[in-house]
Amino acid sequence: MVDTKIRLAVLGCTGSIGRQTLEVVRALPGRFKIVGLAGGSNTALLKKQAEEFSPQFVYYWNKKAGIAFEGCQFLTMEEMAAHPDVDMVVIATPGGFGLDPTLAAVRAGKNIALANKESLVSAGQIIMAEAKANGARIIPVDSEHSAIWQCLEGEKTPPAKIILTASGGPFRGYTAEQLKRVTAGQALKHPSWRMGEKVTIDSATLMNKGLEVIEAHWLFNIPFENISVLIHPQSIIHSIVEFTDGSEKAQLGCPDMRLPIQYALTYPERLPNAHLPRLDWDAINHLDFERPDMDSFPCLKLAIEAGRRGGTMPTVLCAADEVAVEVFLSGRIRFDAIAELVQQVLEHHEHMLIDRPDIKDINTVDAWARDSAIRLALGDEPC
Ligand code: MG
Repeated sequence: MVDTKIRLAVLGCTGSIGRQTLEVVRALPGRFKIVGLAGGSNTALLKKQAEEFSPQFVYYWNKKAGIAFEGCQFLTMEEMAAHPDVDMVVIATPGGFGLDPTLAAVRAGKNIALANKESLVSAGQIIMAEAKANGARIIPVDSEHSAIWQCLEGEKTPPAKIILTASGGPFRGYTAEQLKRVTAGQALKHPSWRMGEKVTIDSATLMNKGLEVIEAHWLFNIPFENISVLIHPQSIIHSIVEFTDGSEKAQLGCPDMRLPIQYALTYPERLPNAHLPRLDWDAINHLDFERPDMDSFPCLKLAIEAGRRGGTMPTVLCAADEVAVEVFLSGRIRFDAIAELVQQVLEHHEHMLIDRPDIKDINTVDAWARDSAIRLALGDEPC
């Protein structure tokens, strides 16, 4: 009998999105075959996952752990993403680790469930051009972009506007003064979503929403002036599309990443999954909305400006933010210094900006921005 299962490679399988992807796979038996698993430093969890799913290929970053993966071939994430035995690649690696596998997957013309927004922010023009040239399909896993994707299903006319909703994070309503005193522990407590550390801190600074504006620009080919951000603390409306006739569509659901993950994996089908939560309309009395406070949360403004400026500015934004978040989590800088650090690196880059970068330029600028951010955080000047 021919095996009709979709052969999946899950990159970043030990992270939050990776683990929730495997929950969806478990809940839909017979639908998928896990052929590749790529994990980070949590080799013990990767080992458990490999025992459960028996993948053909495995990648692990932490080779020093000395754990053997019997029966699995070791491949790099790029090799795995492009392998002919893989039908669909879930890219859930954090931050800068997403770019090379995403490029490999688009060049190989794969179906991609993309959870790594940084790759699109950093090199959106290159990734979208390669995807088009090679017939790759990028299906967003990010809940807002999944919402827009769902709202655009069946539409023949491009949208007039898109409105990305944002929970506002744990510090919604805080003043700039109050934000000077918040801790990493507080920032890591997101009010509505279960996510990894980097995206949780980015949600607290609203950088995440800024990165999502740039992500939406590339995914849906929408000019920046037609993308806006609306704070919606309940996280029930995941985003809104306004059409040329003034009609609007929104996509709603419980704030649970398994919903957009499953939609990306089963697209264009919808499948029942008893483990997924349902909205309880009897318990929802009201939905609230407010405009974002870009003065207290300057990261959102920095990101939108970097996106509008284009070229290598978003590359710098992404790289500098990743370093700033790490340095904040290590306790070396204050919460409000994340934006300051990113802004300074962006300002230093202004005179060396490359308007139409190739991938070599992206890598060079990315390394420069990380180095500059570290030097600034440690009190040195950037090179
Ligand atoms: Mg999101």
